[in-house]
Amino acid sequence: MVYDFHTHTSLSDGDLSPMELIRRALINNYRAIALTDHAASGSFTRIIAEVNEVCALARSYWNILAFPGIELTHIPPPAIAETAKKAKELGALIVIVHGETIVEPVEKGTNLAALHSPHVDILAHHGLISLEEARLAAVNGVFLEISARKGHCLTNGHVASLARETGAKLLLGSDTHAEQELLTVSFADAITHGAGLDDAACHQVLDVNPQALLKNLSQRTGN
Ligand SMILES: [Zn+2]
Ligand SMILES: [Zn+2]
Repeated sequence: MVYDFHTHTSLSDGDLSPMELIRRALINNYRAIALTDHAASGSFTRIIAEVNEVCALARSYWNILAFPGIELTHIPPPAIAETAKKAKELGALIVIVHGETIVEPVEKGTNLAALHSPHVDILAHHGLISLEEARLAAVNGVFLEISARKGHCLTNGHVASLARETGAKLLLGSDTHAEQELLTVSFADAITHGAGLDDAACHQVLDVNPQALLKNLSQRTGN
């Protein structure tokens, strides 16, 4: 089973329509997927409504838990908390913040603002996140990310070691933008081991943490 809470569709810069992305994920043995297109508050209403409808359709006919989400991308840090809150109010079940990856000029302070917001679920590709930030993630229950994406994945070893030290919880995110980037069970296992995690820690990242997030989501959706 694969769990992946970080993907993009043609509603932002992904190649596939939301429905096709979910279909292909199902074929790749996904149990759960979140569709987390890049957005700022101006496009929330349109994107969340469309994705919500597609996810509900997929969940009723196929054996996959598909959820609407948003990735807050290049939002000025002082506006992150308020923007994340708005995304949740409009129906995004998962809110990701596009963190301070080493391969893009993400504004400094983005990681910290995300970790302080109670409406942020995952801080993605956070680059060379500090020990203090990893501690904050552990305390505030924000998931950090092992990234499958080229460039973003270069700091996976760093976050794996900080997670071991601080108890911060990790998820693997594909950050899929095209069909060949979707995870498979064996690729997910290889990436987490490649980040330097042992068998028990890989199991935690690939199964235990996603199931805890799903439990939390079902409480939010009431089913
Ligand atoms: Zn993108
Ligand atoms: Zn991103």
